[in-house]
Amino acid sequence: METDPTRMCEMLVDLLDVNVLGVESRHREFVTVHFECRRVVVGCPECGVLAQVKDRRRIELVDLPMNGRPTRVVWHIRRFFCPDELCPTGSWSEVDTRSGFARLLITDRAGRWLTRQIGENGRSVQEIANELGCDWHTVNDTLLRYGEALVDDDPTRVGLVEALGLDEVLFVREGEYHRQCFSTQIVDVECGQLLDVVPGRSGAAPTQWLLAQGEQWLAHVRYATLDLSGPYRSVFNKTVPRATQVADPFHVIKLANLKLDECRRRVQNELFGHRGRKHDPLYRTRLLLTKADERLSDNGREKLMGLLNAGDPKGEVLATWRAKELVRGLYDHHDPDLALEFVQRLGNDLQESELPEEARSLGRTLLRWKNQIAAWHEAHVSNGPTEAVNNLIKRVKRVAFGFRSFRNYRIRALLYAGKPNWSLLADITPR
Ligand SMILES: [Zn+2]
Repeated sequence: METDPTRMCEMLVDLLDVNVLGVESRHREFVTVHFECRRVVVGCPECGVLAQVKDRRRIELVDLPMNGRPTRVVWHIRRFFCPDELCPTGSWSEVDTRSGFARLLITDRAGRWLTRQIGENGRSVQEIANELGCDWHTVNDTLLRYGEALVDDDPTRVGLVEALGLDEVLFVREGEYHRQCFSTQIVDVECGQLLDVVPGRSGAAPTQWLLAQGEQWLAHVRYATLDLSGPYRSVFNKTVPRATQVADPFHVIKLANLKLDECRRRVQNELFGHRGRKHDPLYRTRLLLTKADERLSDNGREKLMGLLNAGDPKGEVLATWRAKELVRGLYDHHDPDLALEFVQRLGNDLQESELPEEARSLGRTLLRWKNQIAAWHEAHVSNGPTEAVNNLIKRVKRVAFGFRSFRNYRIRALLYAGKPNWSLLADITPR
């Protein structure tokens, strides 16, 4: 047991070689602890002569909560000068990185702690700011500087990738008109690691990112998964021309559902002259329609057919619903050769002139992407990991209530889903 008062103070504040100069307890809210570094003898860096203290300056920083109370530390930093008149050295201040890094208002240990709380545990910036008793910006600035150091200064975080995926993510609706801001996530589909997030959903930013990884890295990519988007296809054509492109089943089925929805709304409008209302038979089908057929109960199926009878006299919605079910059926096949044949046939069948325009449009898209769609059966790259990454990011967005800044969004997503090496956190230098 320690009974020396100086040592006891050191132990209580958990800092070595400091003198506690005093403690203030404000309004039962904040605790403020005054420190100085205990370094008795300091020599001039130029000539080695014993330096003298010129003055002291104070910096107040946010520290980890002490006994559950927000805590401030005030470092009394000494400024020295060299008493030798012939020595060219001016004055200098003592440096202690524990008192935090330049321009940060938080102690170093609190900075590392909050990076992990928010980055790994997914807590919100506001929640941490409340706990530390400081404002949102102080926490967020600190998070950016430690987080970017952890993610961007570690050259081993992005390893070799065999199955690469590109996916668009809406990260915020901005301003009065809720302008949508998109980003592109670059994912290691095999191990479900978010590699990076780049702005926009055009091909430019992902192309640049991929080319920056170097030829060797690109040569290792065997499969490239994508949604049914032209820009990503040309990114892959340009950067990994030899990789097999695979259409993400999730997006293929999503497209079929989208066409079905378009068809339902058009038929509704033609028949009733207005958008769907609560009691319109077609409006009432909308949830049953998108449900997978085998997941419909007998009752549900009967109800769906009854509603379609009433609201879909030409059978257009029914035909598009069948098309959607056939597209889903694509993924019951396991034979890659049969799969291509199946996509080709389905695409052709959907071109028949008596079918509604939505089904025909679906068929055209299937034909345009038939190789990528069929390749899924050969590659067996599941879209599972991409979806897992998406779910993680959604969680981060929910916690943050949407991001106004791409930089904030990127670092939060990468800390949470990018598998940073947390064991490096203790040694990084914030940016
Ligand atoms: Zn000197």
